[in-house]
Amino acid sequence: PPLYKQRYFFVKDIVNQYKPKKVADLGCGNATLLCMLKFHSCVQELVGVDLLMDRLLDWNSDKLSPSIGDHLGPRDLDLSIVLYRGSAVEKDSRLLGFDLITCIELIEHLDSEDLAKFPEVVFGYFSPGMVVISTPNSDFNPLFPASTFRNSDHKFEWNQTQFQHWASNVAKLYSYTVEFTGVGAPPPWAKHVGYCTQIGIFKKKQPDPGSWILAKPTGSRVSEPEEHAYQVVFTASF
Ligand code: SAM
Repeated sequence: PPLYKQRYFFVKDIVNQYKPKKVADLGCGNATLLCMLKFHSCVQELVGVDLLMDRLLDWNSDKLSPSIGDHLGPRDLDLSIVLYRGSAVEKDSRLLGFDLITCIELIEHLDSEDLAKFPEVVFGYFSPGMVVISTPNSDFNPLFPASTFRNSDHKFEWNQTQFQHWASNVAKLYSYTVEFTGVGAPPPWAKHVGYCTQIGIFKKKQPDPGSWILAKPTGSRVSEPEEHAYQVVFTASF
């Protein structure tokens, strides 16, 4: 399958493996991934956030709405889908308490100012159980016929060292572990370049039970003031 589909299948596998109830996709684009995830019965809340929503609403809102089939074979658990227009570097309290947040081919679209805000918003504030971040791996670019950025809107393309350095620092700062993998394996004669798309899987460290007094009071999130920076553009319930 094409690379973009391999990325969606990668997230589907993560959802099958970890069974998150609440999943948010930042930079959800035309919401194809959300359309795929609505079929996972473990998922009870699906959220998409993107700066641009008009394209999406033209293309995919039908696919996100309940169809006749959904009424014929009702789900065991309810599902709600909400799409927001907003930026992944702005805090909105409706994104608190998620099990999984995905950012598929998002970070390379952030300018340096937004990239600097991103970890504090996603890891520090939203602070989900897991974060999956994918981005192009520039070590792979020489295998492409024309060696330039893959998309003119990319602000940067990191090699494996750069991405892993950034991701490990973020993980350390916000008490997550991170593992690296990817999709789009290189040909056997170029193994060293790594995957075409590099992926970091971040998991929030559980506070050490012995050090609960010092642990960051994650439970206190409920008293966090409501902050609504995003605009609701679509909702559906099943
Ligand atoms: N995740 C989708 C996918 O894999 O098909 C779309 C990826 S597309 C390359 C990048 C998306 O990020 C675009 O839809 C763009 O509008 C969105 N985007 C860029 N900057 C953003 C920001 N600061 N906050 C939210 N979305 C953003």
